[in-house]
Amino acid sequence: MIVIKGIAASPGIAIGKAYVLEDEEIVVNRIELPRELLRAEVKRFKAAYKATHRDLDAAEAKVLKVLGRQHAKLIDAHRLILRDTLITQDVPKRILSEGVNAEFALSEALEAVNQQFEKMEDEFFRERRHDLFDVGKRLLSHLLKQSKKNLADIKDDCLLIARNLLPSDTLGLHGTRILGFATDLGGKTSHTAILAQSLEIPAVVGLSDVSRRVKTGDTVILDGEQGMVIISPGPETVAKYQRVQQKTVAEDKALEGLRGLPSATLDGKVFKLEANLDSPEEIKAIVGLQSEGIGLFRTEYLFLNRSSPPAEDEQAKVYAGVMRAMEPKPVVIRTADIGGDRLSQLGIEGPKSETNPFMGLRGVRLFLRHTDLFKTQLRAILRASHKGHSRILIPMVSSVGEIHGVRRLLAQAQAELQAEGLEEPRKVELGIMVEIPAAALILDALLPLIDFVSIGTNDLIQYTLAVDRINENVTHLYDPYHPAVLRLLDQIVQATHKKGKWVGVCGEMTSDPHAVPLLVGMGVDSLSISPRMFLRIKQAVRALKHSVLAKLVKEALNCGDSEQIRKLLADQGL
Ligand code: PEP
Ligand code: MG
Repeated sequence: MIVIKGIAASPGIAIGKAYVLEDEEIVVNRIELPRELLRAEVKRFKAAYKATHRDLDAAEAKVLKVLGRQHAKLIDAHRLILRDTLITQDVPKRILSEGVNAEFALSEALEAVNQQFEKMEDEFFRERRHDLFDVGKRLLSHLLKQSKKNLADIKDDCLLIARNLLPSDTLGLHGTRILGFATDLGGKTSHTAILAQSLEIPAVVGLSDVSRRVKTGDTVILDGEQGMVIISPGPETVAKYQRVQQKTVAEDKALEGLRGLPSATLDGKVFKLEANLDSPEEIKAIVGLQSEGIGLFRTEYLFLNRSSPPAEDEQAKVYAGVMRAMEPKPVVIRTADIGGDRLSQLGIEGPKSETNPFMGLRGVRLFLRHTDLFKTQLRAILRASHKGHSRILIPMVSSVGEIHGVRRLLAQAQAELQAEGLEEPRKVELGIMVEIPAAALILDALLPLIDFVSIGTNDLIQYTLAVDRINENVTHLYDPYHPAVLRLLDQIVQATHKKGKWVGVCGEMTSDPHAVPLLVGMGVDSLSISPRMFLRIKQAVRALKHSVLAKLVKEALNCGDSEQIRKLLADQGL
């Protein structure tokens, strides 16, 4: 039995056989396929081939627009390589004659072309090898994307073990037989972790080398509470974890009586408790929890795992559906925060090639660059505004100019809809995520332009402490109790209340029963919680005393060290 310690990313325990996902960057395995699957494999290769052609067309259009015809010649060179019979004919031939997977057949064919290039005397032609690899990589990535999607074809329950999973990969796990996942990379508040919680898939991340230590077929226990993976456990350990699984089910059942009860502290201060919505599957659960609204509707899932953006009609339908389900309670729809670790396949220029994507073209920055995408989403939200009570929330705001930009587009969208004779949209409140320290520090200038504030602690912590939220090497420094974070949070709450507006918190801090007392003590107006933790947090809030915590927060704000703050909480039994 081997125990590997990592980072608890999504609670719950999963026990089962491992399925190890190949590392798409490095390994292309030779997989022998049964005869009857070979035609389908050739088809799969042809689909990837077509997708690569489309990539090149899109890249050419972009190069022509930005750099001109001269530079677009590079794309022609790539197209020539792609059309080479060594690729178009040899790869299907190899698949059929050798009975192997498309990735392997392709890598063999590429190697053959590479050898031809190497033999060339002319430096210019030898250098074309780089173009060859570029084209090969594009083709491979399309093939591998498809094989990831084939996770849906897995017929038996299993635990997925991988070097890394992107948020888009995690979304793809929904509805599969995958009971949980463990990865070498990743942090606690990565979007991969957040999505795993939403989909109720137990997950452990930041395990360094789990993908090399586990083999497909090994029995594995994944402990999403303690952040542990146990390889080849003995029967006693399995039995122990099965008991824990049963206990959790019983505890969750006991919390059900809290639905519908008021969310006030023991001394009568009322906090609005809302839920975060990350994927459409959660809506039923959220309605069942009787939450007081949706405090954060993360709309990114609509933009991931697809090659063209969602149309206005499609979006309007989704928003209307969620609002109708929640009516008359409010739904805070956040405009898509693409970028960072949430890379879309929409071919949006920028994010894919950034070396530091969390500091890059993300959220409102990206949407103010691609105003067509932004306006489509705003129009869809406005069109749905009759179906219930919605608010618009803008992510990653750092300046006044950005709000002016948003307001301009919103006014345009409104005017267009009116001119098109559509029912006049209702007035929708506009709020901003405060998740960049700059926004917190200039809140007095931002507040007159907006109606409400929602604090995104996940990013606020990463940007305040300069700790990448998905980097397992610095997880120990990602500290919600750091005095700098608490001082900033308190400053945001005070500044917003001073201007008579309301302020909620929607980051993962709201789902941490130990951190919630601090938010309650600061007197935030609402907490938007991951549905999984909603009743547990409600139970915690109902057992707290606001007056005691307000004093505790005052003391905490004078501390210079998070250990002192944790001790203050521990002394109160929190
Ligand atoms: C946050 O940053 O706290 C937040 C809620 O947004 P996201 O996790 O989607 O970046
Ligand atoms: Mg954020």
